Amino acid sequence: MPELPDVETFRRYFDAHGLNRRIAHTRVEAEDLLEEMTPQGLGRRLKDHSFTESRRHGKYLFAQRELEEDWLVLHFGMSGFLRALEEGEELPSHAGVALEFEDGGTLAYVAPRKLGRIGWTRSPEAFAADHELGPDALAIDRPAFVSAVRAHRGGTKCWLMDQSAIAGIGNIYSDEMLFQAGIHPKRQGRALSPAEAEGLYEQMREVLKQAIAAQARPEDLPKGYLLPLRGEPASCPRCDGSLTRIKACGRTAWFCPRCQPEGG
Ligand SMILES: [Zn+2]
Repeated sequence: MPELPDVETFRRYFDAHGLNRRIAHTRVEAEDLLEEMTPQGLGRRLKDHSFTESRRHGKYLFAQRELEEDWLVLHFGMSGFLRALEEGEELPSHAGVALEFEDGGTLAYVAPRKLGRIGWTRSPEAFAADHELGPDALAIDRPAFVSAVRAHRGGTKCWLMDQSAIAGIGNIYSDEMLFQAGIHPKRQGRALSPAEAEGLYEQMREVLKQAIAAQARPEDLPKGYLLPLRGEPASCPRCDGSLTRIKACGRTAWFCPRCQPEGG
């Protein structure tokens, strides 16, 4: 499922292929993706407009319509992504919505499992408030992070994945942050020392930074990362012990019991 590094990668791709190009026509192949609008309504809103700016909050991408006080909102569901096409190129299968530009190119929003969403909002800030999103994981400051995680009674992994606490982190990257910080996924937030919480903050930022630099491709992450090994029997890149998995927050968490001891 796309998390902050994936969506930041999409945002940069959108900037390269979707900004400042006038839209001639909008093709909707998967109407279910549209939130509270019809394909005709979306087409009317976009026709002869272009996007002038993009933003990201957590796992959401926003694009502002030229001269208008509104923003298109994209959520990528389980496996959505963007694909730019040259004039005459065929739409990829599972393309949900295609923006056809006056210059002949197209930007397609592809949603293989049809679980993404496309909507409108008056501003990214209003959207975050309406959807009770916490601060973006790359925007929260250290004192706010430390006090919030240390006030949490449940597991630290659950807290990291809770979009109302902090926005942008999901199952995959929470595992990596906890591994890098040496914290067991089920350690209670309130059991973390101030130094552990600060360490987790630093690792959260570092993991996100590295993942964005790798364009969210696990194989391009630095050596010593857990993520490329996740999902198969493997040894810990740090201590060579066996990685293991447990259920945490209804998801599968991968970790190293030796480097991330349950008792801290
Ligand atoms: Zn280990």
